[in-house]
Amino acid sequence: MPQSPELDAIVVGGGLAGLVAAAELLAAGKRIALVEQEPEASLGGQAWWSFGGMFLVNSPEQRRLGIKDSLELARQDWFGTAGFDRDEDEWPRRWAEAYLQFAAGEKREWLRERGVKFFPVVGWAERGGYTALGHGNSVPRFHITWGTGPAVIEPFVAALHRGIEQGLATLHVRHRVDELITENGAVVGVRGATLAPDDAARGAASNRTVVGDFDLRAPATIVTSGGIGGNHELVRAHWPARLGPAPAQLLSGVPAHVDGRMLGIAESAGAQIINGDRMWHYVEGIQNWDPVWPKHGIRILPGPSSVWLDATGHRLPAPLFPGFDTLGTLEHIVSTGYDHSWFVLTQAIIEKEFALSGSEQNPDLTGKSVRELLKQRLGKGAADPVEAFKRHGADFIVADTLDELLDGMQNLTPEVAIDAEQVRLEIEARDRELTNAFTKDSQITALRQARNYLGDKLIRVAKPHRILDPKAGPLIAVKLNILTRKSLGGIQTDLSGSVLGVDGAVVPGLWAAGEASGFGGGGMHGYRALEGTFLGGCLFSGRAAGRSVAGTQNASE
Ligand SMILES: Cc1cc2nc3c(=O)[nH]c(=O)nc-3n(C[C@H](O)[C@H](O)[C@H](O)COP(=O)(O)OP(=O)(O)OC[C@H]3O[C@@H](n4cnc5c(N)ncnc54)[C@H](O)[C@@H]3O)c2cc1C
Repeated sequence: MPQSPELDAIVVGGGLAGLVAAAELLAAGKRIALVEQEPEASLGGQAWWSFGGMFLVNSPEQRRLGIKDSLELARQDWFGTAGFDRDEDEWPRRWAEAYLQFAAGEKREWLRERGVKFFPVVGWAERGGYTALGHGNSVPRFHITWGTGPAVIEPFVAALHRGIEQGLATLHVRHRVDELITENGAVVGVRGATLAPDDAARGAASNRTVVGDFDLRAPATIVTSGGIGGNHELVRAHWPARLGPAPAQLLSGVPAHVDGRMLGIAESAGAQIINGDRMWHYVEGIQNWDPVWPKHGIRILPGPSSVWLDATGHRLPAPLFPGFDTLGTLEHIVSTGYDHSWFVLTQAIIEKEFALSGSEQNPDLTGKSVRELLKQRLGKGAADPVEAFKRHGADFIVADTLDELLDGMQNLTPEVAIDAEQVRLEIEARDRELTNAFTKDSQITALRQARNYLGDKLIRVAKPHRILDPKAGPLIAVKLNILTRKSLGGIQTDLSGSVLGVDGAVVPGLWAAGEASGFGGGGMHGYRALEGTFLGGCLFSGRAAGRSVAGTQNASE
């Protein structure tokens, strides 16, 4: 069995959190081993696939667009959204406060020093729609990384490669950790299986054929193994009763490697896992017509204009409009007894309002091409990847008349009777409200208000129009599925990333960061998220754990 040379730390998982922790350790001259179960092609984990949306508070990008943001407003939004209400939320609350200060303080500059830049139009995710202390962002805060996910991981992958060249770092791909070795109550290393080589493309599921074993020892081990979203059995086992029964049909918004195995392994080594029932799944999932991983679903990042209907054709209640309240909508959909819902929209809406989450679905932003971006976002027609879904996607119906559209919807879901008269009634009533300068339809009020924000008016919110206006057509219906994505709970940690045991004491030798630690503390988001807070959560918690192990954390942190 190969024995490791002298190591200062082992990092388990080569996603963003692990890469950031590794980069901090290497910057301090520490010797590390990064252990990753997937082939090298998948280095970077989920973050590579991400849209690169980042939560920043009071940034120059916001100010240039006339958005007045502040730490106080962001704190009001975060805590109103999180709804912390458990004894074990003490560390998550502290992490939330520390993270807010990071997002309102050095985050942007720290990233810019590493070459990460942002697209100038700030998006408005999770608009809420309740009262001031309720869920949602009071202002747009979703900053898209120029270059999306690949640009987020780039500086940290480069730091790892420099570390390898300097002889400080070793990268052990196809090494799956199965056990944290404990001696005298302290974690002293990892043990696991070496898996057969696999030339699977990035994100594709790789084999689990065991060809050997390994054992690595170090005074510090950092677990950065991600969440549980790729493991639907675990998702269902932890599904909270407050959201109703777990859906029978789920798409995967994450690769299969997001398997959650390491959480049980950490628990066996003494870690306390908390808030396992807090999860962040999406309700606007569509089946990828060109899948990379099993049950691959893509999330539509919707603008606010589509009419949202349940499986039987009844309109969702206010304020469950597209992009307002992800979990509120999930809870409502599950309560209907069906796992899917519908967007009904027009060609004019799809052109302006449909963005698809994921680096590969945004080649203009990912490729950092201004020319492509202008063509895709401001030119005629929807962006090419959206058009491709419209043409090939199993969930899309395009029709010239409402009757034809309704037939298409019914044919796609023969198991559910769609109340065609109800749909017609809803759409005609909505259209009638639109031709009126006043309105009692709060979705229409929201559209008009959104268009007061330049960013929305430019690229996000279609000019309000009648759904049945033939000039805006053809009509489009999209069947929306529930898509798994993030785990909001995880391994409980203190502010240094040290893992805490069931007795609340530090487990010596063990740290955790990223999604595995609920992005810090075991759940810094509480029940719900403001969006764009996950990549930042990996940066902040990975940095804290790396600095703590390296002994470079300053007192204020
Ligand atoms: C399509 C998509 C779009 C997204 N968009 C955004 C966005 O715009 N903004 C945002 O904030 N967030 C976004 N996210 C979420 C964000 O990307 C993730 O939450 C984050 O990248 C998680 O990083 P991580 O390092 O904690 O875990 P991961 O990226 O999951 O990495 C964990 C790594 O650990 C490895 N591993 C696990 N167990 C073991 C083991 N036992 N032994 C060895 N290795 C192991 C895994 O193979 C994996 O490589 C998106 C995610 C996806 C998939």
